Amino acid sequence: MSKKKAVVIGAGVNGLVLSNYLQKNNYDVKIIEKSSKIGGACTFDKIKIDNKNIDFAKGATVLGMMPDFIFNDTGLSNKLKIYSPEYQKIVYFENDNTEINIYKDPNRLEKELYDKVGERGRVKEFREDENRVIKYIQEGYLKGEAPSFHKASKVLGEDLAQLWIRGTARNLLDYYFTSEKTKLYMGMTVIESSPESIDSEGSAFIIPLMDSGSVFGGYWGYVKHGIWQVTEELGLLNESIGIEINTSSVIKSIDRERKKVMLNDGKSFDYDILIFATDPVSPMKYIDNESLKKSIIKRKYTGTSGKVTAFFKNKVRWVNHSDNDDSLSSFRFIFSVDNLDDFEIKSQNTLNGLKDYEPGYIQVYCEGAGQRKLGNDEPFDKLIFFTKNLSYDKKGEELPHIHEEIKNKVFKYISNPEDCIGSVFLTPKDMNEQFYFPEGNIDHMMLTEGQNFDKRTFSKIDGSFYSYGNMKDIFYCGAGSYPCGSVAGTAGYMCFKNIINN
Ligand SMILES: Cc1cc2nc3c(=O)[nH]c(=O)nc-3n(C[C@H](O)[C@H](O)[C@H](O)COP(=O)(O)OP(=O)(O)OC[C@H]3O[C@@H](n4cnc5c(N)ncnc54)[C@H](O)[C@@H]3O)c2cc1C
Repeated sequence: MSKKKAVVIGAGVNGLVLSNYLQKNNYDVKIIEKSSKIGGACTFDKIKIDNKNIDFAKGATVLGMMPDFIFNDTGLSNKLKIYSPEYQKIVYFENDNTEINIYKDPNRLEKELYDKVGERGRVKEFREDENRVIKYIQEGYLKGEAPSFHKASKVLGEDLAQLWIRGTARNLLDYYFTSEKTKLYMGMTVIESSPESIDSEGSAFIIPLMDSGSVFGGYWGYVKHGIWQVTEELGLLNESIGIEINTSSVIKSIDRERKKVMLNDGKSFDYDILIFATDPVSPMKYIDNESLKKSIIKRKYTGTSGKVTAFFKNKVRWVNHSDNDDSLSSFRFIFSVDNLDDFEIKSQNTLNGLKDYEPGYIQVYCEGAGQRKLGNDEPFDKLIFFTKNLSYDKKGEELPHIHEEIKNKVFKYISNPEDCIGSVFLTPKDMNEQFYFPEGNIDHMMLTEGQNFDKRTFSKIDGSFYSYGNMKDIFYCGAGSYPCGSVAGTAGYMCFKNIINN
């Protein structure tokens, strides 16, 4: 049987994963990438401090959302060394110096929350129900099944599906918990990529969604040398099976009649199917389809996440923790709010551009300690502060005082902040300019009402969730499609299943 021709636009994790599966299933794949290197937002940068070079993750930092079957099927599992901290996560509330251990064992967690924040709710029941929902989501990934509330209700029961998929995050958190601090920790991912309101329909679903990866069984961790190894290795694996990757390639036009993509440099590519693994807005430059254009313009894109990468000349030491205990690589969370109402107000203020920065929470990734665990000794220790809530309109270099404010919030918990000898700050505006993310959203498009779960599609063709509009030979599988962004490739894989099932 002769091979069909697939042209994939975009060499981020989704384009690379999709290409890998297509090439192994009787397609001849050519990738077109406009940047000079592959990886999209999963890439690296370099910095020289004191005459020593160090690489660091420019965009994505930690691995977690990737399904284990993608990690294995693509061949990544043979190439990468990865590690997820065994030690519990640690949560700080800066207003009253509370420090909470998020134990993996639900019994220990229940006791910890009871003792530290007076939680009197249903902690174990929350974890059990969450695991049921996550299992349902993961089964859908593997089957490449388009999300459907009807199917979810059949599997989970009407009540659970309503509470966890269609319902609001506030309602879900109020149902299981009594303590505002527990609610904040368990619900924080609702605004992980964008300032979604905890009162919007479907916002509850973001909570299990963010833990639905399986490479670490729902947890998150580090990749030896850095997360960009995922896309670099995928690039090499893809080339080894015959995929042609064209970097620095700018599309001039797409001839849909003749099924041809023309580049500025004169090259052209014929296709049977064309897949955009980009943000959802970029394809509109090349595709003349007024109704699709209108529906894309109407979508909501704003992102409010920022990132500081801080370099330390000595190992970071945490207050209350010994210099060599197992907690050094654990994820840490610093909350500047202590109740859901303030959480909501602050995230909405940045959405509406009222403030450049409204401290919400900071996720601290102890990347340097993670690298040491993986046997990679680097010239500097590294911490990453993934920060909420930053407004869209300014670049990091325009906000030096906020850069400092973010660092100081973390430095309160470190005994050697004076060892910090450099840092880099990225805002949503920077992400827009450096990664072409519409309005700087790390999921390309907000995970909000009308564009989450079964609505996270651009298809107008029944039974073909990843089609782009009503075009039978054009698909879309970037982070703006189901399930969401992340270094996962799930959308790429599900799009592949959609293509071969049709
Ligand atoms: C600061 C930051 C921190 C993050 N942290 C994490 C994290 O810790 N863990 C995690 O899992 N995720 C994280 N993310 C999210 C994650 O990086 C993204 O969701 C994911 O990489 C998106 O992958 P993608 O393949 O869908 O798109 P992208 O990575 O955006 O790739 C799309 C590709 O398409 C190319 N392209 C666009 N337009 C065209 C065109 N016209 N022609 C040709 N090529 C084109 C782009 O150059 C790009 O290479 C973070 C993102 C950022 C920015």
